[in-house]
Amino acid sequence: MFVSDCYNVNEKGHLTISGCDTVELAEKYGTALYVMSEDEIRSVCRRYKSSFERHYNGNGTALYASKAFCCKEICRIVTEEGLDLDVVSGGELYTALAAGVDAKHIHFHGNNKTMQELCYALESGVGDIVVDNLNELHRIEKLSAEKGVVTSISMRIKPGIDAHTHEFIRTGQIDSKFGFALENGEAFEAVKEAVACENVELIGLHCHIGSQIFDKAPFVLAAQVMLKFYNKIHTELGKTLTHLNLGGGFGVKYKEADAAVPYEDYMSDVSEAVHAACKEYGIQVPYIYIEPGRSIVCEAGLTLYTVGDIKTIPNVRTYVAIDGGMYENPRYALYQSDYTCLIANKVNEPADFTATIAGKCCESGDLIQENTLIQKPEVGDILAVLSTGAYNYSMASNYNRNTRPPVVMVRGGESRVIIKGETYEDLVRNDV
Ligand SMILES: *Cc1c(COP(=O)(O)O)cnc(C)c1O
Repeated sequence: MFVSDCYNVNEKGHLTISGCDTVELAEKYGTALYVMSEDEIRSVCRRYKSSFERHYNGNGTALYASKAFCCKEICRIVTEEGLDLDVVSGGELYTALAAGVDAKHIHFHGNNKTMQELCYALESGVGDIVVDNLNELHRIEKLSAEKGVVTSISMRIKPGIDAHTHEFIRTGQIDSKFGFALENGEAFEAVKEAVACENVELIGLHCHIGSQIFDKAPFVLAAQVMLKFYNKIHTELGKTLTHLNLGGGFGVKYKEADAAVPYEDYMSDVSEAVHAACKEYGIQVPYIYIEPGRSIVCEAGLTLYTVGDIKTIPNVRTYVAIDGGMYENPRYALYQSDYTCLIANKVNEPADFTATIAGKCCESGDLIQENTLIQKPEVGDILAVLSTGAYNYSMASNYNRNTRPPVVMVRGGESRVIIKGETYEDLVRNDV
């Protein structure tokens, strides 16, 4: 019935998350409200961990791509579960450090890291900088020399595989703003330069082939392509790397029909392919990183709203307005993303009412879902949108000077605020 195990329905016919009644949460904290299940987040972390244990002798780690949902508490939770963190900006790095995460477990990504961000990363001692381009390599080398340190780096490679949802293609595509292309020799030349640098230590290679991937095959192909290059570096440059980062993009369920691969299974086929390739090349198997973002937090989260006006336009459609919108969930406006919506206080009633869920921003495109089936709505009902844990809060804005809602974490029937809701004073804090 639901997209994730953390959702259920209680004797009152109310939607629950991790044992908490969502209608009571809405009363207690107000709406709009983001709710996240700590139980579910921890369970997903453990499933990724067990994937390495079961299939790869524990010789790897999942990194949480913090851009999916970044705040101090999530950094603490995932690192407690043994994951490393991936950050892509000075602000995400600051958040992780403020949460007390050991810098050695932080990997710094991004396609245009500023000088200020690079200095900050070096001064904090992050474990690994994933280098995107040659300018950046030169800047890191220079900064490291000035500081008298040797910086561990990986290099972001475009493996020429593009995977999204149920399809993946070998594109050989070099049209991406991220990383070094394999096909035209750019990556090999860049690796040569990196190996020659005195103040950087190249430890591995990285790739990231897409998002919402529902298949293990593209990851296997990526591993094969990357290992071939990894071995070329070994044989032609005499440089032995130790790490291979296969990126993130593991699919999650927004709708019941989405067929996500169980997270504990991702490493099985990859492991086989890696062992086979390394045997063929006569090299040691690398330490493997994967970088799930969305899948760690997405299904653990839902958003609660109060139904406001309901406008039926005869022979057209019915708009159900909520006290939120694109400022706190821009994903439908950005990419027509699917979501499961339901009336949280009427879960057991038939979902036979076709509604378009509209936000309160001054944009016609400010919709959360169009023509979706929900229980018959009435003013004052609590509408829940499921699977909003990823790329909702982290993409939220103050458009129309709306205040970002609070985030409440639930665990075993208990709830607590982990990010306070913004106030009007917050909105003018930086105005002069
Ligand atoms: C966005 C991103 C991820 C995480 O992707 P998900 O689809 O959220 O799993 C991992 N690695 C890199 C480099 C990314 O840019």
